[in-house]
Amino acid sequence: MPATRRFACVEDPRYRQHQGPEGHPERPDRLIAVGQALDAHRSALLPIASRQATDEEILRVHGPGHLQALAVAAEQAPVRIDADTYLGAGSLEIARLAAGATIDLARAVARRDVDTGLAAVRPPGHHAEAGQAMGFCLFNNVAIAAQALRAEEGVERVLILDWDVHHGNGTQHSFEADRDVLYVSTHQHPYYPGTGAAGEVGVGAGEGATVNVPLPAGCGDREYLGVFQRVLAPVVAHFRPDVILVSAGFDAHEDDPLAAMQVTREGFAGMAAIARALADTHAGGRLAFVLEGGYALSGLRQGTDAMVAAALAGQAPALPEPVAFEEGSLLAQAVGRVVAAHGHRVPGLGAA
Ligand SMILES: [Zn+2]
Repeated sequence: MPATRRFACVEDPRYRQHQGPEGHPERPDRLIAVGQALDAHRSALLPIASRQATDEEILRVHGPGHLQALAVAAEQAPVRIDADTYLGAGSLEIARLAAGATIDLARAVARRDVDTGLAAVRPPGHHAEAGQAMGFCLFNNVAIAAQALRAEEGVERVLILDWDVHHGNGTQHSFEADRDVLYVSTHQHPYYPGTGAAGEVGVGAGEGATVNVPLPAGCGDREYLGVFQRVLAPVVAHFRPDVILVSAGFDAHEDDPLAAMQVTREGFAGMAAIARALADTHAGGRLAFVLEGGYALSGLRQGTDAMVAAALAGQAPALPEPVAFEEGSLLAQAVGRVVAAHGHRVPGLGAA
């Protein structure tokens, strides 16, 4: 095993040119913080150039009306699309770059050209619906990448693991009727955008392929790692994905100004180590990370550094110790909600 693995990285100064109103939390500095974390690993990173996603690639997830609406909005830029979501000069082209680069990273991982990697892109994607930009998101980068793998790379089964502190409503809705894309989300709940109750399990043929883990404010490493051990691990073992894409937001970090979770650097390291182990065991090692949210620069730095270190190391990092499971605890309640929704489908769900 080499000292480090082949880690592909999407970074491009153009992602910092997507600029919104003064004081907006989804700001260019976020990528400076991510870049500072990447500096510690830079000699081992394999750069992937960014290119714009084509209409055909975008239209696998979004409706033509969405492309038209964004084109009209771009002519009026700078403009607010809703209370949270903005389009500045050049933002539409930058959003196309983010989607295109995410596809190319996922493709490199699916083909085993690299072992793993990160798309450090803006704007984020997981709130973008088929016909609606929202929650700072214009195009749903991870959903567009998942569809590209299925359409062009012969990939049948994709897991999208979304550990951003917000529920990825757009990603869920893109695949909720689809049995071959498993969406698993941990998120603060109730909270923006309001979706993501445990009882949202997918619809029709996709029933069971949406796994929501709503968590109350105040959860930290213990709850996140416990959920990864008792929910994520058995769900992934049951689904057996070909590729794992991670919607990697760092807004569950304890310093984040938008959310109210308490995850630390060690928590993100443990989450990444578990994701890597699950990819190695069930997905031929295919694992790609896509930046979503994260609004404390310290959280972005710590989370990115911990995640990249875990993914890059030649030797698989040690897995976190099994988290204690006390009856009535926040963890036990969170796991219990998922077991009630999915326990009849997933062997071992809720067990360590
Ligand atoms: Zn978020």
